[in-house]
Formats: sequence, structure tokens, C-alpha cells
Amino acid sequence: MNCAQTGTRKIQMVDLQTQYQRIKKEIDAGIEEVINSAAFIKGPKVAEFQAHLEQYTGAKHVINVGNGTDALQIALMGLGLQPGDEVITPTFTFIATAEVVALLGLTPVVVDVDWNTMNMDIESVRRAITPKTKAIVPVHLFGQCADMESIMALAEEHHLYVVEDACQAIGAQYTFSNGETKQAGTIGHIGCTSFFPSKNLGCYGDGGAIFTNDDALDARMRAIANHGMVVRYHHDMIGVNSRLDSIQAAVLDAKLPHLDEYIAARQKAAAYYDQAFGNNDKLLIPGRQEHSTHVFHQYTLRVVGADRDQLREGLAERGIPAMIYYPVPLHQQKAYLDPRYKDGDFPVAEKLAACVLSLPMHTELDEEQLAFITSSVLELIR
Ligand SMILES: *Cc1c(COP(=O)(O)O)cnc(C)c1O
Repeated sequence: MNCAQTGTRKIQMVDLQTQYQRIKKEIDAGIEEVINSAAFIKGPKVAEFQAHLEQYTGAKHVINVGNGTDALQIALMGLGLQPGDEVITPTFTFIATAEVVALLGLTPVVVDVDWNTMNMDIESVRRAITPKTKAIVPVHLFGQCADMESIMALAEEHHLYVVEDACQAIGAQYTFSNGETKQAGTIGHIGCTSFFPSKNLGCYGDGGAIFTNDDALDARMRAIANHGMVVRYHHDMIGVNSRLDSIQAAVLDAKLPHLDEYIAARQKAAAYYDQAFGNNDKLLIPGRQEHSTHVFHQYTLRVVGADRDQLREGLAERGIPAMIYYPVPLHQQKAYLDPRYKDGDFPVAEKLAACVLSLPMHTELDEEQLAFITSSVLELIR
């Protein structure tokens, strides 16, 4: 028996097919326009989407690139950091955040995260700053901003750059104590996001974007993303080839007007989960970061009074997928093992890696599915 056949739709971590069906006309028209124009690379659609995304985010400049990892790499290249410079990142994140640091010959310095919000812990950042530190890369994990007011203040005090990894948090709003509100990715010197299909604003392939309000950084990063070229076939710096293709821009331009609805749908599903699990002492619902909205790229439970892996298997038997983001912190990854770090150095991240479980989270979850998922979780941990 496959109980996941509630209604007619299978329960998935992300349901991109149903989402597509709802706006098929808009998407298909955009793609067709690109094919008819044959302007596949750097076509008008890319410029249109850039303008719309600048409008939506409030960023002065948006640079579209090939993916979120490239966005992070180009951001760090744009800052002109030198080998040996230290870049602080949380140890509990997706590998891309530290990967680009290491690839550029910079030194990743990892810090622990907060147990409740799972975002970068400020005191740990403060302790990690040395004279070699040049930048902080906060990750807005699972869809809510890190403690950006504290991070920006710390960065200012120590003359550090801040590059936000907003790959999971496009559309999240952060409110400063002076009442000013900014979007994830537009707070630091540079912000990066990803349009990977399952991200909150996902295309139908790879894509990413860089945000900045700084004209000089914009010009530099735009050139770096285009082979270091400012004037055609004149290369002023070493660059890369990283661009959003026109078909992906058309998909994104069709989806962007729906992003706020998508966020609301995720928040509604999250509220259902919160309601079901909030009073259960075997599970901890996601702690909320003060001053930030949560756009729920993931809904991640901490399983503290039951066996996480057994719960996951039990759910799988009922046809309910659940994922572990992330099972191994950066400082315990084989490629990143570093004599400066040993097991136990980042106790919160290590504890999270052992107990987190992300439930299905997307724009198309209906009440029947949510009821089946929540009752299954509660039965399995009883
Ligand atoms: C998805 C993601 C990335 C990388 O984005 P890609 O488009 O897959 O390269 C980087 N950082 C975080 C936190 C992410 O979730």
C-alpha cells in the first residue's frame, strides 16, 4: 500500500510539475519567444529579467550568472582578495559556500551556528576574526536571514566585506532596528542567489544572480563574469564565463511575478507544520530569527526525542520523502579537513547534523498532504 497517494498527487520534497501546470501559458510563451528570436545568449529576455529583479529586490545592480556557486566565486573575485586572506563562513551549510573560498586560494575559516535559527552565531564570528580576515559570508540558511544587523556592525568595526549567501532566501525581508527593511542579498556589500530548479525562485536548468549597490563592484563583477572583458576582446582581468541563458531568463521572468504567492504558500505549509509539531517535546520546530521573515526554502525539524534516521525510514515506507540538510558540517568533510579543526570544535553544528530532518516543502502542498505528513510523523515518533 502506498499511502502517499493522497488525492491524486504523490508527495514530493518539491513539486515543480504541478507548479508549472499553473503558469504553463506564461512559461511556454516566454520560452517560445526566445526560440523564435534565436537570441539564446545575452538576449533581451536576460536584460528584462535583470530589470524586473532589480525592481523586486531593490538592489541597484543585478548581475545574472550561470549558477549560485559562480555567483559566490565571482563575488569573492570581485573583492580582489589575495591568497591567504581569511573568509569566515558557517560550518553548517551547503558546500558551495566554502568551496569557492578554497578554489580561489583563500582560507575558509568556519564558525559555529545558533541552535535555534541554525544561522551563523555572532559570538563565534567575533572570536574567529584575525588580522588576516577579509570577508564574512553569512548564509541565510533554509530561508531566513542571519543576524545581519550584528554581522554588518561587526564587519564595519573590523573593515570586512560581507557577501551574503542568499541562495535559499530570495524574498526574505530583514528589518533593522532603525525600521529600515531590506531584502536578503541586498544588505551586505554583495549578495548571491541561485535559481537552481528547487530553489524558491527556480529556473528549468542552472542559473544564479549577484546583487550589489556598489557601482565599482558591479562593473568589476560584470566584467569578471564575462571573461574579464570590459571592451570587446580586451581583457583587463582574469575572468570566467558565467551567464544566465535567455531561456532560463524567460522562465524566471514568468515566475518572478508569482514569487510572493510562492512564499506565502510555503509559509502557510510551515504554519501547518508548526501547529502540528509545536507542542511535541520530541521535535523542535525551526526557531525564528528575530527581525527576519522566513521564506521556508526548507522546513527543518530538529528530532531531539526520537531516532531521526528511523523516522526518516518510516516516512519513506509511507511514500513521504524527507531529507537531511546537512549530514556533515564543513569541518568534517574529507576535502576540507584542516588541522586547525577537530571533532567537537563546533558542537552545535555537529549536533544539528545528527538531528535535522527537512520535510516536504513547496508551493503545491495541500491540506490533505500536510495532514498525512504530520500525522505520519507523530505516529512514527510516538
Ligand atoms: C543552492 C546553494 C548554493 C549553490 O547554488 P547553485 O546554483 O547550485 O550553484 C550555494 N549556497 C547555498 C546555501 C545553496 O543552497
